[in-house]
Amino acid sequence: MNHCLWCQEALDHTYTFFELLVYDRPQSPICDFCRSQLDSLKETIHCEGCGRKQAHSSYCSDCLEWAKVYPNKNFHHTALFTYNAFAKEYMEKFKILGDCELAGLLSRDLYGACKEKGKEALFVPIPISDRSREARGFNQSELLLQKAHIPYMRLLKNQSKEEKQSKKDKRERMATAQPFEVDAEGISILSGKKVVIVDDIYTTGRTLFHASDSLRPYGPSTIETLSLFR
Ligand SMILES: [Zn+2]
Ligand SMILES: [Zn+2]
Repeated sequence: MNHCLWCQEALDHTYTFFELLVYDRPQSPICDFCRSQLDSLKETIHCEGCGRKQAHSSYCSDCLEWAKVYPNKNFHHTALFTYNAFAKEYMEKFKILGDCELAGLLSRDLYGACKEKGKEALFVPIPISDRSREARGFNQSELLLQKAHIPYMRLLKNQSKEEKQSKKDKRERMATAQPFEVDAEGISILSGKKVVIVDDIYTTGRTLFHASDSLRPYGPSTIETLSLFR
């Protein structure tokens, strides 16, 4: 019997014939009760630009701000769940306390969202700085993709020497300097590719916009962005 990765309750989900047939898709290690504490953005009205939950689907205040910086851009970020109290507790236990097993808690959802991006999609996780990697021992975005059985390429380097984003207020975050550089492999293969940049949380959008900006000069056909939470 499998157990819920979050609360350890036994899982009683019986896989249907079809579910087992799609063998590549990771099984869902979260019980119905824990799952009910998540707020799926797929089923709620949200901002069409960034996925934020709100009463209407036109651009939210953050996206309207970004539209001033990127007037020709069509914003369309895919986020799976609201960054609510449960999500915060989850990310703290996974990312800050370092419980790596938890990277698989929502892997079935992440797998589904990645597959919707199409066969040709090239997934690029947001890299963390060397300092964060040393302290944490893993890159949360890569681990999320690994657990979801989604192949990815590390094409970006994070050169940031700055303080953690989480220690900054919103205005400071939006003004953060470009921390990313494309590596030699990225430069040679990006042309014509459909790129999907993956991060754990969309907070201000600053990180994902910087990542898109650093990849764009190397000619990908499209750049999309995806995060577990918004
Ligand atoms: Zn549970
Ligand atoms: Zn928005």
